Amino acid sequence: MIILAKDIAEEMVQHSREEYPRECCGMLAGKDTTITKLFKIKNIAQRMDEYELDPLEQVNAFEKIDSLSLKLLGVYHSHPNHPCYPSGLDINQAFYPDTLFLIISLKDMKTFQLKAFKMCEGEVEEETIIFD
Ligand SMILES: [Zn+2]
Repeated sequence: MIILAKDIAEEMVQHSREEYPRECCGMLAGKDTTITKLFKIKNIAQRMDEYELDPLEQVNAFEKIDSLSLKLLGVYHSHPNHPCYPSGLDINQAFYPDTLFLIISLKDMKTFQLKAFKMCEGEVEEETIIFD
């Protein structure tokens, strides 16, 4: 279970729309099970249907997270035209077993789905999001 503030959820959806039809990505930080801060990270992937967090922006975000005494709780990215479920590549690239993966799926500009997953060694488990 993860608690997500509504304004952060809205920021994630907004970010997905801004980058559409590319995938957007970013990091989510907070305390315990509550996400309180969002960091938009540049997607440096070459392909349209992939994401790769810009390493320098990632380092900067980690420094900010540390300075705020927060913890990295999740990484998010969007699926502009594909289902709200981790792709094979997402599963292969899930290097952080303690981090949640949030996916925003856009069917069009108005309709979206937002889900959280735990991924570890090829296993995918959906995590409940509580919108605060
Ligand atoms: Zn994906």
